[in-house]
Amino acid sequence: MNLRILLVEDEPDVALTLSDLLTGEGYVVDTAPDGAQGLERAASGRFDLIVLDVMLPKMSGFEVCRQLRQHGKDVAILMLTARSQLTDRVVGLRLGADDYLTKPFEPPELLARVEALLRRVKKEKPPQVVEYDFGRIHIHFGRAEVLKDGSPINLAAKELDLLRYLIDRRGKVVSREELLEGVWEYQPGVSSRTLDVHIAWLRQKLEDNPQNPRHIHTVRGVGYRFSP
Ligand code: CA
Repeated sequence: MNLRILLVEDEPDVALTLSDLLTGEGYVVDTAPDGAQGLERAASGRFDLIVLDVMLPKMSGFEVCRQLRQHGKDVAILMLTARSQLTDRVVGLRLGADDYLTKPFEPPELLARVEALLRRVKKEKPPQVVEYDFGRIHIHFGRAEVLKDGSPINLAAKELDLLRYLIDRRGKVVSREELLEGVWEYQPGVSSRTLDVHIAWLRQKLEDNPQNPRHIHTVRGVGYRFSP
């Protein structure tokens, strides 16, 4: 599947040049000529990356970035700052941009940044499952709802995070280190033991026979694996 990029840039010739450049590399490119339209497209469309100019009519790139993050959109954002001023870069990164590029730049520089960002995003985030069924369980992650034979089951937030992390990587062995980093982000006081306890709770709540789990498997010495 082709990766989708939204380009928010008000200068028509720059937009056209960059759009041609990215299209030539096989990306599907959509453009928006001002901040307001950029925000609207970014919020509604499915993009893998947004190339966001800072100086835009109607709404600045900073504001677009701030609002996207405020609404929980975690799409990758590459900001184009017109000046090489440190404050612009710092503000952009603080508002949640993933990287920035100072204008003027050479086309290969933009392509390199875009590729690097997309690689990072793809590696970090496999597609997230919204609804999922296994055994007698139905899960709606968006609503944080878990049903067993149609009756609701209470999962703590971390149990649900852990389950989602495993289901997003179903069929693959996920190491203990990755689970501690991905689910708990190495919070102080969280140990390998915490992980095992949460796994035990999940099995207790979701498996027909928690002693002999069919879905949440232990991979000895490595970590855990979810099988449908
Ligand atoms: Ca501009």
